[in-house]
Amino acid sequence: MRIPVFAANWKMHKTGLEAVAWIREFAVATKNLSAADAEVIIAPPFTAIAAAVEATRGATLAVAGQNLHFERQGAFTGEVSAALLKAAGADLVIIGHSERRRIFGETDESVQRKVTAAHTAGLVPIVCVGETLDERERGETLAVLDRQLKAGLDGCSGDQIAALILAYEPVWAIGTGKNATATEAGEAHAHLRRRLREWFGGTHADRCRILYGGSVKPENIKELIGLEDVDGALVGGASLESSTFAAIVSVSATL
Ligand code: PEP
Repeated sequence: MRIPVFAANWKMHKTGLEAVAWIREFAVATKNLSAADAEVIIAPPFTAIAAAVEATRGATLAVAGQNLHFERQGAFTGEVSAALLKAAGADLVIIGHSERRRIFGETDESVQRKVTAAHTAGLVPIVCVGETLDERERGETLAVLDRQLKAGLDGCSGDQIAALILAYEPVWAIGTGKNATATEAGEAHAHLRRRLREWFGGTHADRCRILYGGSVKPENIKELIGLEDVDGALVGGASLESSTFAAIVSVSATL
């Protein structure tokens, strides 16, 4: 039995004050939801992490970074390490988001180094994988997922796989308003679970939560979360309004 996870990726939005207001509104909107129904994560920009951590004290919300640098410390102007995120109060970190891969040149190798750095610092990685539209149209979706998964998780132990969160995010669905169909998402999630089982063993693979990400909204979450290997959602645009994200999270109470 895997508890569903809903993660809000705020990207480059929200000040500390805006984060605190969102957290308060979200707490009111989800007051009838129990921790057994769902785990909820927010990923604010680095500059709002401390305020978010303070505002979530005593609540069941966890805070994640949106990225990290794999070195522990050093002359890396503008970068933030896993240890710095952990010290700021984050418990998780998003790694390998397609915007990082596409705009900032992240590779499968840097994803792997970041996953290792997160584990070393005691952060839970939320590892993103997903194909572009070209790759899907060429019939390469599953091969791309295999490559990203194998390289990104290289060196992880079974226990680390069980604890980490994987996010299947088809690049063509992110921020476009066009989500994957249940068939497309179901096929990709089942494939990822199958590979985790082959590479890390069934016990560990069956505990790993695999989220769907890509234009999730209150109108489509029910169908997606109903799929066997979809254990929650990573949500960008629809997480910026607390009431919209609360509506998405609230479907977990109906499962
Ligand atoms: C994301 O940024 O991870 C994402 C899924 O964005 P959106 O929900 O806006 O498609």
